[in-house]
Amino acid sequence: MAAQCIACGMPMEKDEDFALNDRSKSYCRYCARPDGTMQNYDEKLAGMTGFIVRTQGVTEAAAREAARTMMAGLPAWASKK
Ligand SMILES: [Zn+2]
Repeated sequence: MAAQCIACGMPMEKDEDFALNDRSKSYCRYCARPDGTMQNYDEKLAGMTGFIVRTQGVTEAAAREAARTMMAGLPAWASKK
């Protein structure tokens, strides 16, 4: 059964999709810090904002708003509103 990253929603199918290639992790390698722990809300928001700016060519403010909306629907950030 495919897992889904709790922090960004990415489907995780292969071992290398998981943080540290560890299938017991509930988040993906893009949401992990180099030491394997999960990024916090601000780190992930900054990362997603940068990604959206680069891929969609929108302003930083618009990208941040889009990232916030995306993250609001994910289990890792359910307590953040
Ligand atoms: Zn992720």
